[in-house]
Amino acid sequence: MINKVIAIDGPAGVGKSALGKRLANHFGYTFLSTGQMYRILGLKVLAQKIDPKDYEKVVAVALKIDWDFKPNKNNVLEIYADGKKVGSEIFSEEVGGVASKVSSNKDARRVITNKQRELCKKKNIVMEGRDIGTVVCPEAEVKIFLDASAEERAKRRFKQLKEDGKSADFEKILESVCARDRRDTQRTVAPLRQAEDCIYIDTTNINLEQVEQKVLEIIEKNDR
Ligand code: C5P
Repeated sequence: MINKVIAIDGPAGVGKSALGKRLANHFGYTFLSTGQMYRILGLKVLAQKIDPKDYEKVVAVALKIDWDFKPNKNNVLEIYADGKKVGSEIFSEEVGGVASKVSSNKDARRVITNKQRELCKKKNIVMEGRDIGTVVCPEAEVKIFLDASAEERAKRRFKQLKEDGKSADFEKILESVCARDRRDTQRTVAPLRQAEDCIYIDTTNINLEQVEQKVLEIIEKNDR
């Protein structure tokens, strides 16, 4: 399958990146996790001690970021902001929370969305986020919406933290998953929602391999 865009949307912690990387590998496409761009914006806002609700200041930060994307050996697009490769600091709960707040800023979103659109124009890419199939690239040839209950997503996150030897509190994780869901679905600009022509998959009771299998079968059937 060549010259296509595969859009994957869905709530936090549903496995979009894991699926996206597998699909990118399968088709020889590049992969981008767009949430990282909002996380970088969140990190910069945090570092400059700006209130995430200060609309103008957040826009000013977004406008100043110089973005670059370079594929690693697994074809995952690594993001460089102002010449600096993004590190694991963007994955903290704190940065995730600020990212989710600044992502409701319409003008900051426009700047980031335009960057993402440039990448979509080149095709042969799997892009995951909240608004890829609806706003960033409504013309994507394949649109997938992954879903799972909040409890199941919190359970997965809890298990991951434990496996990484980190401390974890299930109730707190569930609370943060639900808060993020609320913000992502209820914001007025580019809210999380299914595209009309998406492939909807509930992953609550199936594992990653089964999700990938399902998606590949549908893509191959539609491609015939
Ligand atoms: O996917 P991830 O959890 O890394 O995204 C961090 C935050 O960025 C999300 O909670 C969401 O608010 C925001 N986001 C977004 N649009 C995207 C990707 C992420 O608003 N396309």
